[in-house]
Amino acid sequence: MKEINIEALTRDNVRRLTPYSSARDEFTGAEGVFLDANENPFPSKVNRYPDPQQRELKSKFADLRGVLKDQLIIGNGSDEILDLVFRAFCEPGKDFVVTIKPSYGMYKVLANINDVKLSEVALDHNFDLDVDAILDVSEGAKMIILCSPNNPTGNLLNKDRIIEILDKFNGLVVVDEAYIDFADNASMLDELRNYQNLMISQTFSKAFGMAGIRVGVGIAHEQIINILNRIKPPYNVNGISQEMALNRLARIEKVASEITQLKLERSRLINFLEHQDAVIQVYPTDANFVLFQVSDANKYYDRLVENGVIVRNRTSAYGCENCLRLSIGTKEENNRFMEVFDTINL
Ligand SMILES: *Cc1c(COP(=O)(O)O)cnc(C)c1O
Repeated sequence: MKEINIEALTRDNVRRLTPYSSARDEFTGAEGVFLDANENPFPSKVNRYPDPQQRELKSKFADLRGVLKDQLIIGNGSDEILDLVFRAFCEPGKDFVVTIKPSYGMYKVLANINDVKLSEVALDHNFDLDVDAILDVSEGAKMIILCSPNNPTGNLLNKDRIIEILDKFNGLVVVDEAYIDFADNASMLDELRNYQNLMISQTFSKAFGMAGIRVGVGIAHEQIINILNRIKPPYNVNGISQEMALNRLARIEKVASEITQLKLERSRLINFLEHQDAVIQVYPTDANFVLFQVSDANKYYDRLVENGVIVRNRTSAYGCENCLRLSIGTKEENNRFMEVFDTINL
């Protein structure tokens, strides 16, 4: 395994701090008369604090992904996981981070919130990694954030190129796999055994169909997880969300069947778009959305909205001039999109 000095990457104050210890951290048994957390004793579904370590959820998710539960941190969405990574490892006003463009807008926002400089390196003409350009600007950076499949482009990043970055960069490499379940056998999870500097983030918001419960998962070497656990808010994932996520994992075949349906719908939409004169280019996708280029994205966007169909206008994103991003909906929703799109004459 490629090892890195995680302590040395960690911010001084985080290394030194004494983490908050909650009542549910100090007594973890399930039986007894609980007079330790100043809760209201009258039973309702939610009068008790939730498990601060989300042990059951971690155990089930670890089984699903074939990792150890000590390699997991659960967050209030993966946005919280990414924020924790910034706060644990990046000294405000001093450290800097590298990411790709175009990509997920939250990386920039998180960097700004944490007062961390962000360098965005352009993807190549296939929206894939330019490894040399990334490594060039990464000298001294705390981390490199990648997104695969990438948002808004939809494509997976080349795995060999990610591995080259893991090999040559001695900071943290975060791979955001929010859409990984829509791609075939493409996760970086297997590389966790080879690279201590790899951190993967996944989410219940997309393929698992649970954007509303705000559950995200960070997967990394236990030492990285331990650092993040030191700074996470004690009860960051509420009890109802933990329960709903567990219910979903217990019916994982339902998730699989929805993914299958969405992939079929994805093919149907791609086929439709490729046969439209108004569409200049349809970009390859491994996610539950498709990016495509038209002559005038603003006009198409407005016409779609006027007809009650809302897509994402990405024309201002780097390299995405006149591009719209279309999420894959139900069959009926996609039919409606096609019907409206067909009638737009510019
Ligand atoms: C949607 C999305 C997420 C999900 O964030 P949550 O906070 O888990 O809902 C993460 N990364 C990318 C690139 C996304 O598009």
